[in-house]
Amino acid sequence: MSAEKIEYIQWYPGHMAKANREIKEKLKLINVVIEVVDARLPLSSKNPEINQYTWNKQHILLLNKSDLADPEVSLEWIDWFKKNTEIEKVVLFDAFDRRMKTDLVRTIHELNIKEKAQVKCLVCGIPNVGKSTVINSLIGKKKTQIGNKPGVTKGQQWLSTPDHLMLLDTPGILWPKFEDPLVGLHLAWLGSIKDTIYEKENIAADLLKYLLVYYPDELEAIYKIEVVGKNLPEVFDAIAKSRGLLVKGGEYDYARTSVLILNDFKNGRIGRITLERPE
Ligand code: GDP
Repeated sequence: MSAEKIEYIQWYPGHMAKANREIKEKLKLINVVIEVVDARLPLSSKNPEINQYTWNKQHILLLNKSDLADPEVSLEWIDWFKKNTEIEKVVLFDAFDRRMKTDLVRTIHELNIKEKAQVKCLVCGIPNVGKSTVINSLIGKKKTQIGNKPGVTKGQQWLSTPDHLMLLDTPGILWPKFEDPLVGLHLAWLGSIKDTIYEKENIAADLLKYLLVYYPDELEAIYKIEVVGKNLPEVFDAIAKSRGLLVKGGEYDYARTSVLILNDFKNGRIGRITLERPE
């Protein structure tokens, strides 16, 4: 599917509209908005509508899954957000890193907030960026349901942490219309939009096209193939061949090869990759 087609897809299920309304009702209680994005696509995974929650609040942007992102590009993004937004703190984060969690708690307590005794934080972001994992890390135990599928975290609840924080856990919310048609494709790469909305083979081909330009060495290493001088269909074939993904009759199985590439990217197996760069 081409990017032009994606432009016309509206992706805003009813439960997200409802969640958005519920957050607005609770906003007056909130001191800090912790917005979670995916460091591999920090702009595409940033819901532009979250700005309506942050007025009059302290705003922390977590570039989560930074362990899966290209470290050099992540630093460029940090600079970009500092220069181009009003966000108080922009932080590279790995929800499984305890040291980063300790630093985050310190950062929150250092913010200019009157009610120090119990800081109320809204944790928000689109599906699958790691909100539940961030929350579990802050509360020190598993509280919310986690899954690598969009929309698994449900409902809204207050959770307290040992560090005097109250966290409002919200479901992943997308926005009604993607202004840039590429955003839909990017969110499909991250698994933030249900795979079934787009055709997997086209999503995988677009991802592979990007990887061939920016991360050819990583592709060669993981799939044990050579990519130099090969075009996209040839690389697709080489991956299918290398992994023995064939259908009856000896043809390459493009459906399974696409799923393989998408899952390898989602789970960080291809390497530390960032799929968009600051302008
Ligand atoms: P949510 O939908 O935003 O609540 O996302 P989840 O917390 O359910 O996380 C989605 C997937 O990303 C899960 O498989 C998590 O284990 C994984 N994940 C979350 N944070 C990180 C991180 O910082 N690094 C890595 N490598 N994986 C993460």
